[in-house]
Amino acid sequence: MTTALEVQGLSAAVEGKQILEGLDLQIPFGELHAIMGPNGSGKSTLCHVLTGKAGYLVSGSATLEGQDLLSLEVDERARLGLLQSFQYPTEVPGVRLREFLIEAADERGIGEEEALERIEAEAARFDTTRFLDRSLNNDLSGGEKKRSEIFQMAVLRPRVALLDEIDSGLDIDAVKQVSEAVEGMRSPDLGVVMITHYNRILKYLTADRIHVMIDGRIVDSGDAELAEELESGGYDAVRERLGLKKTTTEPSRRPADFFTDTPFDV
Ligand code: ADP
Ligand code: MG
Repeated sequence: MTTALEVQGLSAAVEGKQILEGLDLQIPFGELHAIMGPNGSGKSTLCHVLTGKAGYLVSGSATLEGQDLLSLEVDERARLGLLQSFQYPTEVPGVRLREFLIEAADERGIGEEEALERIEAEAARFDTTRFLDRSLNNDLSGGEKKRSEIFQMAVLRPRVALLDEIDSGLDIDAVKQVSEAVEGMRSPDLGVVMITHYNRILKYLTADRIHVMIDGRIVDSGDAELAEELESGGYDAVRERLGLKKTTTEPSRRPADFFTDTPFDV
C-alpha cells in the first residue's frame, strides 16, 4: 500500500533557530498516528513546514502519496489533499460555515452540488447541522469548534489530515466527543497525524502508533505501552531511557493554556 505521508530527514530553521532536526515519519493510509511531545519540541513547526507556511529554511523530504510536497505552494499542497486543523480555531464573523465550505470545496475542485451533498450528509453524522448557518466558529464552545473542524475535514476529504492540539483547552466530556469525531473521520483513504501535548485523548481513541517528539526529532515510536510510560513518567522518563540530555527549553511563544496544564510540562 502507498504511504499517505512520508517524511525523511526533515529539518527546519526559523529566524536563525534550528527547530526540526532531521525528522522521520511514515503514515500509511488508513492509520491514525499520535505525535506527542513537550511544549517547544517543534510539533506545530512540523505542521507549518508540511503545509508550506512561509519563513522556514527547510531541508529533507516530505511526500504525500509519493508526490513531493516541499517544492509546492501552500494551495497546491492543499489540492493534493493535505489539510491542517488549527491549534486555535479562529472565529470568522460574517462568513457562514456552509458558504465557507462550498468555497473551500471549490478550491479543491469539488463542485457546489457535490459539496452540498457532502455537507448535509457529514453534518448529520457529526451533529453539526445547527452550525451551518452560523458565522464560522462564532459562538461555539471549544469542543464544538473542534468538532466543527473535523466535520469540515470530513466534507473536504483530505488524504492527510494534520490535527494540531485538537484536545487542547477542552474539558473531559469535550475530549470524549472530539475523540469520537476523530475516530469517525478514519478512512482507508486517509492518514491522520494527531499532535498532542497530553496523553488523555489516547484513552478515548486508538492510535495505530504513537511517536514521541523531543527537540525537533521523533525519538521513539511504539504502541499503547509508550503512552503508559508517558502517563507515569512524563517525557523525562523517555529522555532518561534513551539517554537524552534534558535541554533547557525556551518558554513557548504562545500563551499558556490554563485549562490543560498537565504533569507533562517541562
Ligand atoms: P510545539 O508546537 O511543540 O510546542 P513549536 O513548533 O511551536 O513547538 O515551537 C518549537 C520551538 O521553536 C519553540 O522553542 C519556539 O519558541 C520556537 N519558535 C517557533 N516559531 C518561532 C519563530 N517564528 N521564531 C523563533 N522561534 C520560534
Ligand atoms: Mg504547538
